[in-house]
Amino acid sequence: MDYEGFFSDSIEQLKAEGNYRVFAELERHVGDFPHATRHAGEDTNEITVWCSNDYLGMGQHSDVLNAMKDTVDLVGAGSGGTRNISGTTHQHVVLERELSDLHQKEAALLFTSGYVANDAALSTLAGNMPGCVLLSDEFNHASMIAGVRHSGAEKRIFKHNDVEDLERLLADIEPGRPKIIVFESVYSMDGDISPIGEICDLADKYGAMTYIDEVHAVGMYGPRGGGVAERDGHMDRITVVQGTLAKAFGVVGGYIAASQKLVDFVRSRASGFIFTTSLPPAVAAAAAASVRHVRDNGQEQRARHQERAATLKRLLADAGLPVMPSVSHIVPIMVGDPVLCKQVTDDLMDRYGIYVQPINYPTVPKGTERLRLTPSPIHSDEDMGQLVAALTEIWGRLELKWAA
Ligand SMILES: *Cc1c(COP(=O)(O)O)cnc(C)c1O
Repeated sequence: MDYEGFFSDSIEQLKAEGNYRVFAELERHVGDFPHATRHAGEDTNEITVWCSNDYLGMGQHSDVLNAMKDTVDLVGAGSGGTRNISGTTHQHVVLERELSDLHQKEAALLFTSGYVANDAALSTLAGNMPGCVLLSDEFNHASMIAGVRHSGAEKRIFKHNDVEDLERLLADIEPGRPKIIVFESVYSMDGDISPIGEICDLADKYGAMTYIDEVHAVGMYGPRGGGVAERDGHMDRITVVQGTLAKAFGVVGGYIAASQKLVDFVRSRASGFIFTTSLPPAVAAAAAASVRHVRDNGQEQRARHQERAATLKRLLADAGLPVMPSVSHIVPIMVGDPVLCKQVTDDLMDRYGIYVQPINYPTVPKGTERLRLTPSPIHSDEDMGQLVAALTEIWGRLELKWAA
C-alpha cells in the first residue's frame, strides 16, 4: 500500500469538494477582544473575530486571569496525576462544588473537555445499565454521538426537536427497560432551542432519564447562567446536565452535574475520566473564578449579549441577507454551497479583515453550508456596520441568494 499516496488522494478529494479545512492563525490580545492579529506566513494583519465561542469575552476577564496566575505561582503548572493517583487538587474540588451549585444538583464531575464529558458519561451510563436504550436527537453534537456509539447500547434517533417522533419511539420500547433521552438546549449550528419542558413531560410519562448538553447555554441563559433549563424552570427535572468551561466561561474543561449517586457511578467507572491526568489546578481555579463571576454578576453581560445578537439579526435582515431564524445568540447565514461559502469567508478575511469560519460538511448537512456569527457583548455598532457592509458587497458581487 502507498500510504502517503492514499493520504494525499483523500486530501485532494476534500479540496475538490470545498471541504478542506484551513485554520486561521490568530494572536489574541488582552483588552482588545474581539480584535486580533492574524498571521499568514511572514505577514500579519489586524482582524475582527466574528466566530469565537468565547461568547462573553471571559477568556480575558481580570478575575479569571488573576486566578490563573495566582494559582500557578502557588501550586505550579500541572496537577501531577490522574484524579485517583495524586491528581485531585483542592482547586478541582472547589470547582466541582461551584458547578453543582450553578446547576442546583447534588454533585458535579470534571472532565478534560466537554467532548470527553459527553463521550465518557454517555458511554458509561448507557453501557452499564442492562438493556438501556438511548433516544438521541438527530442533530446532536459529535461528542454525544461518540458517547452513544461507545456505550454499545441500542439507540433510536428522533427527528430534531420533534416531541411527537420522540413519543412514538418511547411508546415502542418495553416499559421496564432503562431509557435515556439525549439532547441539547441551544443547537449551535442553527441557533434553535429544544422544548425542554415537553421532553421532560415525556421522560416522566415513560420513565426515562434526561441528559441535556447545555454547552452553548451555560453562563448565558437563566438568572444565574445555569442554562436554558434554568431559564425555563426545568432544572430539577433534568437528570444529567452537561456543560463546558471553554465557551462562555472562557477557559477549558467539561463537566456533568447530577445526583450524588449518578456522579459517583460515572466517577467510578468512566475510562475517559479515570485514565487521564486531571486539568491543571490553575485552569480549575480560573474556571471557578469565571463561573462565580458569570453566576453572581453576569446579568448585565447576558442582557447585553442578547441585545447584540438581536441587533445583528435585525441589521442583516434589513440588508436582505438570508439570516436563518434563530432564537438564541447564534446568528447563522445560509449560503448552501461549500465552495461559495469558503469564497465568502476568504473575501471577508482578505478584503475586509473580518474573520468568520465557513461551516461545511460534516459539521452541517451538505447543501446547508453557512456562515455562523457569534456576536459578543463586546462587539460594537461599528464592528456590526463593517460586517454588514462587507457581506452586502460580497453577496452582490458573487451573486448569492438574498433573503426570500
Ligand atoms: C463544543 C461542544 C462540545 C465540546 O465541548 P469542548 O469543551 O469544546 O470539548 C460539546 N457539545 C457541543 C454541543 C459543543 O458545541
